[in-house]
Amino acid sequence: MDLGLAGKSALVCASSRGLGRGVAMALAEAGVNLTLNARTPGPLDETAQFLRSRYNVAITSVAADITTQAGRAQVLAAAGSVDILVTNAGGPPPGLWSDWSHDDFLRALEANLLTPIALMQALLPAMIDRGWGRVINITSQSVKAPIAQLGLSNTARSGLTGFVAGTARQVAPFGVTINNVLPGAHATDRITQLDAATAKAEGASAEAVTARKMAAIPAGRYGDAVDFGAICAFLCSDQAKFMVGQNILVDGGAINATL
Ligand code: NAP
Repeated sequence: MDLGLAGKSALVCASSRGLGRGVAMALAEAGVNLTLNARTPGPLDETAQFLRSRYNVAITSVAADITTQAGRAQVLAAAGSVDILVTNAGGPPPGLWSDWSHDDFLRALEANLLTPIALMQALLPAMIDRGWGRVINITSQSVKAPIAQLGLSNTARSGLTGFVAGTARQVAPFGVTINNVLPGAHATDRITQLDAATAKAEGASAEAVTARKMAAIPAGRYGDAVDFGAICAFLCSDQAKFMVGQNILVDGGAINATL
């Protein structure tokens, strides 16, 4: 299927590994020129090289912390004109509702609420002027159903969901769509770290925790970052122009809900 995206340009934040990398791959396959970002130069360069070797698109990479104002300025300057924005960053640490300080909340809100909002505020005006744009925010299944040990994530991402619900309807008249994609458990470094933390808290092995969690997912396994990327690329497609302000759950059926 031709997604109608060849020659467009995308900024994919936090994309050296995991879900962001999966989205970058799918967009590169669709002919989209990319600006990639992550904090650590080594894996970022490797991903950029991998994509260059595989796809005939221009790849720029910027090693910077996207959750800081200075990092965002660096990334936005390198990206230039952006048709497709994919917001993403590392997730907040696990813990208990009673553990977190005011500063812990500020860090989570900065990373998973205020950073996506700042990036949208920076890039939406030019998309509106051009009459075409796509924004995908990688959020979490925790927006649909809270995850007990990820209260910081539950909080920050629900705020972003509210912002998008209103803003998506304000930019839709100009050919710009904003949608959120909500990953359930996917086999990335993040889930490995979370399973290790759960195992430590329970005195169990990480393998046992992973097996138990997989068994609780109707699909019987964790998701794949490349499949996740393909879903995001479709939401960026020309054909997806009538999808506005949606929250698309990609969780193998884990959340037991009718809607
Ligand atoms: P991951 O495998 O740990 O990859 C995270 C990526 O983000 C890496 O490229 C990392 O590179 C980059 N990154 C992290 N913090 C950054 C920052 N401040 N600035 C720029 N880049 C940054 O994580 P993932 O599984 O892909 O998860 C991506 C997002 O989806 C997270 O917010 C996570 O909470 C959420 N999520 C994941 C799952 C899942 O099961 N995997 C489920 C629900 C939600 P550097 O470390 O070098 O910066």
